[in-house]
Amino acid sequence: MKKKLNFQLTSIAILSILLTMTLILIVYYDLFRQQVMEELKTVARMLSNVENLSEYSVRDYDTEVDNMRITLLDKEGNVIYDTDADASFLDNHAGRPEIAAAYEHGEGEAIRMSDTLSENTFYYAICLNDGGILRVAKEARSIFSVLGSMVPSLIVITFTLTILCAVIARFLTKSLIQPIEDMANDIEHMGEVKTYTELEPFINTINSQHEDIIKSAKLRQEFTANVSHELKTPLTAISGYAELIANGMANGEDTVRFAGEIHRNSTRLLTLINDILRLSELDSQTSERPLEDLDLYEAASTCISMLELSATKHNVTFHLYGQRTFIQGDPQMLEEILYNLCDNAIRYNVDGGKVDISIKENEEHVILMVQDTGIGISEKDQQRIFERFYRVDKSRSKKTGGTGLGLAIVKHIAEQMNAKLQLDSTLGKGTTITIFFPQK
Ligand code: ATP
Ligand code: MG
Repeated sequence: MKKKLNFQLTSIAILSILLTMTLILIVYYDLFRQQVMEELKTVARMLSNVENLSEYSVRDYDTEVDNMRITLLDKEGNVIYDTDADASFLDNHAGRPEIAAAYEHGEGEAIRMSDTLSENTFYYAICLNDGGILRVAKEARSIFSVLGSMVPSLIVITFTLTILCAVIARFLTKSLIQPIEDMANDIEHMGEVKTYTELEPFINTINSQHEDIIKSAKLRQEFTANVSHELKTPLTAISGYAELIANGMANGEDTVRFAGEIHRNSTRLLTLINDILRLSELDSQTSERPLEDLDLYEAASTCISMLELSATKHNVTFHLYGQRTFIQGDPQMLEEILYNLCDNAIRYNVDGGKVDISIKENEEHVILMVQDTGIGISEKDQQRIFERFYRVDKSRSKKTGGTGLGLAIVKHIAEQMNAKLQLDSTLGKGTTITIFFPQK
């Protein structure tokens, strides 16, 4: 990439140098040609003004200008006098382009290449009052000879400019590439690298992706630590009670109690493992099951009957409001949402409390509302209860067997169903969780 850029920049520079040189040469030679022609014209016009122009007056004049050949012709194109040759040896000139043009239009010009290519002869002919022709000619360098004399300086200039361009191209390429290399070497601090505006969107994307990666790695690490910790507690208890029994340190009554503890803790372990598995299943999003039409009202009443025993135990009463309302989704996911919300509404309720489940709908949403008259959640905790393993009151939650994963699962499922979650709670008064499912 660096080499390619370098090469391209240098090539462009060399190409433009050569083009410019050629253009300068063409313009320069054209000016030179015009100048020679002008000179010939001036001399010819001046001489043609001489009255009764004869070979003698031409001969006189000839000594004053050098390098110029003057030819005098009669009406038929025969040479009367020529400054450079004996007129009697010269053939009829009437056919020469500049002479023919002069007979016809009063003046004519022509440029002819000499045999060696290095010289051109410029001709200018003018018609005289007596019908004869005066022709002035001059040998001058051809474009090739000018080019030839320019070649050494051209080479030097091109060479110097090329080196200069190569150095600048190298510098430019470096300043283009350097920030990218710097950033690649140290992604952590890529925000501190001095760059240019065009790179900013690229940096921002990489930066946010990098942050996401770090964040999710941290979350995963935290989760693993939490899982180990959560598993450790019931396992320690199980191992402790089992050891007591094994050592024969428990009498008959104790053994029953210890076995009960072992049972309770292993149930908790199983619940934990189930919840963790469910979360990782939701994380990997492999459950691409076909969507079904689900009756939210029916699902809610099934959930209530499932939790009836627990409600009675906590002295909490259920009420279901609404009518048959359909949403699209996975039946297991809907059941999990309902179960977790209702379970919380019972567990974090007060003795004699109430739980109201209402199902409503508007044009955009089907709305499920689970409202309890329980202990409520403080504002500080409201932001955290959807986190994995987060429990407001660890001891109370543990007593009720909570793992702190229920609402994390609810949030995850809601996201997958494109549903919005809303939490309203007042400490000591109660909690309402509302879910807005999208209309079909
Ligand atoms: P799990 O549901 O996995 O058995 P859990 O109930 O402790 O365990 P979540 O359902 O995620 O976990 O709830 C997290 C915490 O939020 C609970 O421990 C509780 O402190 C608080 N909480 C949840 N629902 C309510 C509610 N309706 N009223 C008061 N506090 C609640
Ligand atoms: Mg719960």
